[in-house]
Amino acid sequence: MSIASNLNTIKTSLPEHVTLVAVSKTKPVSDLMQAYEAGQRIFGENKIQEMVDKYQEMPKDIQWHMIGHVQSNKVKFMAPFVNLIHGVDSLKLLQEINKQALKNNRIIDCLLQIHIAEEETKFGLDENELNELLSSSEFKEMKNIRILGLMGMATFTEDQNQIKKEFIHLKTIFDSIQSIENENLKLNTISMGMSGDYLLAIECGSTMVRIGSSIFGGR
Ligand SMILES: *Cc1c(COP(=O)(O)O)cnc(C)c1O
Repeated sequence: MSIASNLNTIKTSLPEHVTLVAVSKTKPVSDLMQAYEAGQRIFGENKIQEMVDKYQEMPKDIQWHMIGHVQSNKVKFMAPFVNLIHGVDSLKLLQEINKQALKNNRIIDCLLQIHIAEEETKFGLDENELNELLSSSEFKEMKNIRILGLMGMATFTEDQNQIKKEFIHLKTIFDSIQSIENENLKLNTISMGMSGDYLLAIECGSTMVRIGSSIFGGR
């Protein structure tokens, strides 16, 4: 199957309110261009340097999403153009994004990553850390970031019930912070669901799916 037809199949399966991020990490620009020519404009990468390289080579109407773990010292390289950072998991990182956004005279949209999986290795905040971050004065004063919602990754397992439980957990946390108000909060996005579990994620309330291998093939 071609990239264009894979993309088409997936797009047809998505409800209108769900945004598709085409996860293109490790894939060459020629593959991304096939998706671009088929109409895709949102691409997700997990390494900053790779995203910068592709940004420079590719058409400028692409929206670049950083979906990987972000090191503070590399934020400056993507700050001029990144459209959404999914994996923000600390106040310190958010402060660096805010600082680099200010330098670039822009507001950078972010999602806070929540740890919903059983694995210790997956990054993210727990519910208490999330509430602490959102209620801190440091956060409330940040003017160059905007939090659009939450991101999570389920446990790597075949157990659909386990995955479903974790997605519902993320949705519950998302609902629980709706009452918080601040200039830099505009909560409308739940980024959850990948190639293997995106339909389940949508059932559980996802509004943004991150799909790689089902579009571009295995890595
Ligand atoms: C690689 C990756 C994806 C896409 O995974 P596929 O299984 O290839 O669809 C989604 N989210 C994150 C954070 C990733 O690193």
